[in-house]
Amino acid sequence: MNANPNAQPSPTLEAAPALRPAWRNWAGNQRTTARRVARPGALEELVAVVRETRSEGLPLKPVGSGHSFTSIAATDGVRLVLDAYASRVEVDQERRRARVQGGMTLRALNALLAEHGLAMSNLGDVDAQTISGAISTGTHGTGTRYGGLATFVEELELVTGTGEVVRCSETVEPDIFAAARVGLGALGVISEVTLRCEDAFRLHCDERPMPLATVLTELDELAASNEHFEFWWIPDTERTLTKRLNRLDPEEAAQPLSRAREWWEDAVLENAGLGAACRLGRRAPRLIPSINRGITRLLSPRVFSDRSDRVFCSPRRVHFVELEYAVPRAHARRAFAAIQDVLTRLGVRTTMPVEVRFAAADDVWLSHSYGRDSAYFAVHQYVGMEHEPYFRAVEEALSDLGGRPHWGKLHYSEAATLAERYPRFSDFLAVRDRLDPDRLFANEYLTRVLGT
Ligand SMILES: Cc1cc2nc3c(=O)[nH]c(=O)nc-3n(C[C@H](O)[C@H](O)[C@H](O)COP(=O)(O)OP(=O)(O)OC[C@H]3O[C@@H](n4cnc5c(N)ncnc54)[C@H](O)[C@@H]3O)c2cc1C
Repeated sequence: MNANPNAQPSPTLEAAPALRPAWRNWAGNQRTTARRVARPGALEELVAVVRETRSEGLPLKPVGSGHSFTSIAATDGVRLVLDAYASRVEVDQERRRARVQGGMTLRALNALLAEHGLAMSNLGDVDAQTISGAISTGTHGTGTRYGGLATFVEELELVTGTGEVVRCSETVEPDIFAAARVGLGALGVISEVTLRCEDAFRLHCDERPMPLATVLTELDELAASNEHFEFWWIPDTERTLTKRLNRLDPEEAAQPLSRAREWWEDAVLENAGLGAACRLGRRAPRLIPSINRGITRLLSPRVFSDRSDRVFCSPRRVHFVELEYAVPRAHARRAFAAIQDVLTRLGVRTTMPVEVRFAAADDVWLSHSYGRDSAYFAVHQYVGMEHEPYFRAVEEALSDLGGRPHWGKLHYSEAATLAERYPRFSDFLAVRDRLDPDRLFANEYLTRVLGT
């Protein structure tokens, strides 16, 4: 079932325009040039690339859509592109299971599931990532009863650093399964992912501005009473934008946004309008508090309903960098106050919001929500504006609350600190030793966060 009709005749390409050795991530803050790019289209080609690269002594790095802000996907060795390894393998509508190749994007996955009357139970903000890239860093959405995307994985197939093909699940190689669902690209190339889905559903979206003080007072109730609750706070103001997503009754007719309204609100107001405000703020930072107050005056309520993935995910055209920390949910208010304190103390100027989301505890060893219900705090900065002092100070403040950094978002933590935050860190390292003894998948980022 692994033969792919889109496969290229050769697994290694050097000249195809989309596959040039020079690479940058979505935010443009990570750039590298690989020695060469490999693009397998079938399992045997993928295994051959792993074995060849290993025998040459070069590092190998599978890359998804480049949506991580950290250098987790960077390599100066061989970059492995899986866009020709991105097909459906099997969809079992009755068991609500989908098995897909590792390079499939979430957008393609959502469309495939919809064709079969299925859907993912929860998703993040965007659908550009690949399924393997998304799970590998612990990508999550929001909802106190839902874990991140990795918690919907039922089985994985990996090509290890020695070129072996391994399958794992709760019952087969359970240690590999506990490690590899959020594997940071350190354990092997994920060649297939089997996902636990559910029957397709529609979501009702209720977005409305609310005073910050009310959101903080009612936070537990808002998070508990909505299936998916999140809010954005615009610094320099006392206002937030809240988003509540709940399942639409199957009997009720959906009321999607018209194409024109969607274009106006998402493309023009949210993206072009925010982009213009950010550019102005970057040119004249002293205007930022007024710009932010102006942005909050433009916030207005919006209610609609649609297919679940269309409601979970929206386009993001304004480029930014981001740090995100997960703290035990009980510390949510203290974490928020700590971020406010950093903004004031450092006099940070930013037109970008602080985003607050929730996730349920899970059992994936390097998941940010391992063993504890979490609240996620994301801080952003517009590209080209100084972010490091701000992000470092937020990291320090949230670390004091036992925070764990998102692997795909900027952070400055190193292995020694992370080992204290993740109770199964040393078990993860043992699986790494077993699956990648020669550190074929190592790069600077992994050496920093996992050690050599
Ligand atoms: C605009 C934007 C919105 C975002 N929204 C969210 C959000 O809502 N929630 C959230 O949690 N995060 C979010 N993120 C972060 C993003 O989901 C993660 O960084 C994710 O890992 C990116 O996936 P990718 O396919 O781009 O992978 P990449 O960034 O290319 O790679 C990430 C890691 O996955 C590994 N990898 C990729 N493919 C494979 C494979 N086949 N086998 C093994 N390892 C592999 C890479 O080696 C690397 O270690 C967002 C990022 C952006 C830019």
